[in-house]
Amino acid sequence: MSTFEHLLRERLQHALSWEAELDEQIGTLGGIRDANNDDEHDPDGVPVSAEWSRLAGLLQEIREQQTEIRAALARLERGEYGVCTRCREPIAEARLEVRPMAELCVSCAS
Ligand SMILES: [Zn+2]
Repeated sequence: MSTFEHLLRERLQHALSWEAELDEQIGTLGGIRDANNDDEHDPDGVPVSAEWSRLAGLLQEIREQQTEIRAALARLERGEYGVCTRCREPIAEARLEVRPMAELCVSCAS
């Protein structure tokens, strides 16, 4: 297994467990929200609906990240990993180390 495949799989694993955790928190919040429709007028703490939107936003982000990681793994399988999808030039390793799911080289991304 190449270093980058290892990195990507590690990130994917992390993203998956994070997703499960967020899912659970959102589920719990949903229960609270249903039990207490008046939460917007609660002077204590963050309204449940605001916290729910925040978590839903994070969940969206983590799912997009999973899509990116899976796309990068697919490129690895096809032997196209580390090649810029726009100009077909190799992507610098230093960039891939920071952002292993990068699709574009530094000049195309900027
Ligand atoms: Zn490029």
